[in-house]
Amino acid sequence: MKTVLIGVGQAGGKLATALAEFDARMEFGAVSEAIAVNTAKADLQPLPLDTVLIGQDRVNGHGVGGDNELGAEVMQADALEVMDALDGRISSKAEAIWVVAGLGGGTGSGGAPALARELQRVYDVPIYGLGILPGRDEGAIYQANAGRSLKTFAREADSVLLVDNDAFRSSGESVEEGFDAINEAIARRIGLLLASGEAVEGVGESVVDTSEVINTLRSGGIASLGYASAESSESAEENINTVMSTSRRAVLSGASLPNATDADSALLVVAGQPDRIPRKGVEKSRRWLEDETNSMEVRGGDFPLGSERLASLVLLAGVEGTQRLAEFMERARQAVRDAEEPDEDPADAFANDQLEDLM
Ligand code: GDP
Repeated sequence: MKTVLIGVGQAGGKLATALAEFDARMEFGAVSEAIAVNTAKADLQPLPLDTVLIGQDRVNGHGVGGDNELGAEVMQADALEVMDALDGRISSKAEAIWVVAGLGGGTGSGGAPALARELQRVYDVPIYGLGILPGRDEGAIYQANAGRSLKTFAREADSVLLVDNDAFRSSGESVEEGFDAINEAIARRIGLLLASGEAVEGVGESVVDTSEVINTLRSGGIASLGYASAESSESAEENINTVMSTSRRAVLSGASLPNATDADSALLVVAGQPDRIPRKGVEKSRRWLEDETNSMEVRGGDFPLGSERLASLVLLAGVEGTQRLAEFMERARQAVRDAEEPDEDPADAFANDQLEDLM
């Protein structure tokens, strides 16, 4: 999938960088452009990407300090600057634009949905979101911001792939300590998904195509991406169980949004040396996935790679009815209640509606 990445806010910029670097290191060529947008000058400076500083008249390069309403306002006011920076970077070959952001902060949280809306008006390619949910022990303001942002982002983007910061955390590590490791893990998974259908040598019937990723995401709403890999044997016959167990692990313990299994549609990509990929193992895994997701729309395909390991990448789309998201929305709702903002009419202002809309 020829992709243009736009990182919004601090997390968005760092993650867009990690993704672009992974794609370049692997020589996949899926990421054709990557830019970073922020209201905080200091967060843009260390990034090796082209950058756009927005909201200078309002916050003078100092960021919006976790105020996601201000983040949204500034993006609406300065969207033209972002559009100008994109001008000429979105070639006719571009197949998707991904807007990447941490949903718990200010600039990304408010700005990413507002930018997705602008992009939808101008470009014909799908506009996807890559959103990071705050971990459980991040403060109430992060939870409330993310709850608010998620609903708008899911409405404005064609699909929002969610990553839960808790999903990639090693035990004993604080969320902050783990950011670089988390970003690497996310970049590998999303990077492989974007490269599916790109790095293909000797295209075969079973090789996954970009259109299958796009068709899977057509379900809209919220998506999750799972990944697991294992050593493989030289004989495909001997790898049947390996593929089945990596596919199960990808969904049950390796997902970017844990405990999200009910889905509208799914895509199973098995990556590895083509002569090691067992057809029977892929077929059985697909059938397992149909049962597990309660979806009849499960696509599958191979991703030929030089590695001696085999990996399963499972994209689930339309997972908004799952337990994990309900838990998160409850956290967001509780955070709003705790904030005691009477003017905001907290519970019904967004959280209740949101849950209903999302489910
Ligand atoms: P913004 O600059 O105002 O958009 O705010 P941030 O991007 O710092 O967003 C804060 C949220 O993103 C919090 O929930 C953080 O936990 C998360 N976050 C910040 N930096 C990173 C990062 O590098 N990686 C990941 N995975 N999450 C991050």
